[in-house]
Amino acid sequence: MIDSLIKFLDSSPCNFLAVDTARRLLQGAGFAERSLADSLADVKAGDRFFVTKNDSAIFAVTVGEKAPCETGFKIIAAHSDSPCFRIKPAAEIPGEGGVLRLNTEVYGGPILYTWFDRPLSLAGRVILRGADALHPFTRLLHIKRPLLTIPHLAIHFNRAVNDGNPLSKQRDMLPIIAILNNNLEADDFLLRLVADELGVAKGNILDFDLMLYDMQGACRFGVNNEFISSGRLDDLSMAHAALMAITSASDSQATCVAAIFDNEETGSGTKQGAASPVLASLLQRVNAALVGQGLGPVGSDNEQFAQAIQRSFMISADNAHAYHPNYPGKYDPTNHPSLGGGPCVKINANCKYMTDARSAAIFRALCEQAGVNCQYFVNHSDVAGGSTLGNILTGQIDIEGVDVGNPILAMHSARETASTADHEAMIRVMTRFFAPAI
Ligand code: ZN
Repeated sequence: MIDSLIKFLDSSPCNFLAVDTARRLLQGAGFAERSLADSLADVKAGDRFFVTKNDSAIFAVTVGEKAPCETGFKIIAAHSDSPCFRIKPAAEIPGEGGVLRLNTEVYGGPILYTWFDRPLSLAGRVILRGADALHPFTRLLHIKRPLLTIPHLAIHFNRAVNDGNPLSKQRDMLPIIAILNNNLEADDFLLRLVADELGVAKGNILDFDLMLYDMQGACRFGVNNEFISSGRLDDLSMAHAALMAITSASDSQATCVAAIFDNEETGSGTKQGAASPVLASLLQRVNAALVGQGLGPVGSDNEQFAQAIQRSFMISADNAHAYHPNYPGKYDPTNHPSLGGGPCVKINANCKYMTDARSAAIFRALCEQAGVNCQYFVNHSDVAGGSTLGNILTGQIDIEGVDVGNPILAMHSARETASTADHEAMIRVMTRFFAPAI
């Protein structure tokens, strides 16, 4: 499973590629791709399918043989995006000696200085001229050779660098990509590069969403290979676990869903994010299709959908903070999950997480059934924590659920650290969730 996770991380340098990797994984497991733009009225019991939204969110469904109003939906949510740097339009900044920089904008909340002095490359999607203005064509781009770096200032120019060094996102974080012979070569430099990579005419490129990513792949480390180091563990590790669980879902009665949203790192407020109606509307359409085929009691599909939601349960899976041995004072004195100690339930008295005693108990019971240890994460009371998908989703669907995640170190660093045992444990719990209830 860890080999599969490493492969998943390395082929997913950004949200768009993560969704493409998930697509291929699901297709390999026999899931059919469907489009949200087409009718879903023929979705029937036993179907395994997936849909995507904006090429950056993906929803995989195994349709149960019983009506959702009888079984409820079983849902696992995760997110495809991670903090990074997005290339701005008109990005070329030629400079002294022909050194060309690219202008970037920070996406989400990365730990900026972890991005310095690494071989970086570009990945994302490129929008090409289509049949007409309203129907452009999309190509994914994943350049797999080192192209750029964000060079740090030498210590000789700032002897106090190790005493705290405030960074400007605009001045300090721009990557270099080439040494030009003359500044005229800067014109359309990036467009020419992208056109060459894709084998298309430069004039056919209308726009792009391109991100920087760390060229160094994921790896195990530790004397016993007990750790994994990679960019984007938050939240691709949970996305991978959810996909492993849905592809082996054995509950033939209930409809199971793995929902991987985009834009969690910026508040989920997009059409492909957890604050949008995208999941609610998909569930509604699946339910309506089944009701339309006579599954379940006689009654309106709206009424049956409302009942289905009340019987549903969601595991919102996003990584948690592992106990950092160098900073014991940052953690709650009694609830500080350890790397390798198992999946965490995330709890917040002020309801930043959707967890409550009942939903925590359900997750704990699933852990017990899966033979997995369960930990709890609660913030140190003087430290404001983060938030995640669960509560945002309840703005669209009044569903019961729990916020969980595996503990990781250095969340939002260019490379984060997790435990291989925890990953395998999380897959076991999620697989248990998508199995018949016992
Ligand atoms: Zn996250």
